[in-house]
Amino acid sequence: MRHSLFVYCIGFCLFLDCTTAPSAPKTAFKIVTTTQMLADAISPHLNSSCSIVVLFPEGIEPHSYRPVPSDIKLLQEADAVLYNGLHLEANMESMLEHLGRSKPCISLGFFIPHQDLIPLDEHSYDPHIWFDITLFGFAAMKAADSLDKVLSKPVFLSNQTHLDSLVQLDSLLLKQWQNLPESQRVLCSVHDAFSYYCRKYKLKQISLQGVSTAAEFGIYEVNDMVDFIVENKARVAFTEAHALTKAMKSVQMGCAKRGHKLTIGEPLLTDAPGKKGSLGGSWPGMVIENSDKIQKAFSHD
Ligand SMILES: [Zn+2]
Repeated sequence: MRHSLFVYCIGFCLFLDCTTAPSAPKTAFKIVTTTQMLADAISPHLNSSCSIVVLFPEGIEPHSYRPVPSDIKLLQEADAVLYNGLHLEANMESMLEHLGRSKPCISLGFFIPHQDLIPLDEHSYDPHIWFDITLFGFAAMKAADSLDKVLSKPVFLSNQTHLDSLVQLDSLLLKQWQNLPESQRVLCSVHDAFSYYCRKYKLKQISLQGVSTAAEFGIYEVNDMVDFIVENKARVAFTEAHALTKAMKSVQMGCAKRGHKLTIGEPLLTDAPGKKGSLGGSWPGMVIENSDKIQKAFSHD
């Protein structure tokens, strides 16, 4: 199964390569997206009159990112701005709101029905929507359609083939996960970014940190995680590029004291794709790379 997924992914990435670099004429609409995930998701639905620029530098952590003067210039020069919303760009909210008075400034989260979002409390939702491939992909299509209505010339490209690819990829991942008994599908991570992924493929999950990487955590969270790991017989826990490997080592030591062996898996990609040109260097490639790392770690267990 992994082999067929790999072959499929190569095809998918080649397809993305064709769609993310449209040869835009001089009069192109400049669309600025905050994250690379947004750019990768919307570009297949925009015609060649659009050029897409990603605001966040490669690998940046969006929860705490503060815009620099060159970002403000870029946003001012844009014809439209697409952001994730749901408080992902927490330090840019008032700026985006202000910008929205003078140009189209749309949030992808707006195009996802409330019942499909994961609530955090009465007033907020989990922003990590890109980990539900089809939810994010279809919302991006709606966002492109919406841009078409607010910009002065048509920009929307109907791309059913791309949507079909996402559905196919999603069902492939689902089949892969179904090969593993539900009791063994346990994802332990530092940062709580995987709720949409875990909901989709029926994984139990626990994290040390909250939904934002700015959230504090300490000994109570470490102890809770140790309890959860021992109780669920989880064998692997994962860190990520921006997360604290040291904290996961404390969990590992806590498990060892309880006679439970815990391995630390390869770092996962959470709030930004990986290195450009790699499988995880784009969306949805980052979801595929994560799936591969998690499943490989589980099978070596
Ligand atoms: Zn996050």
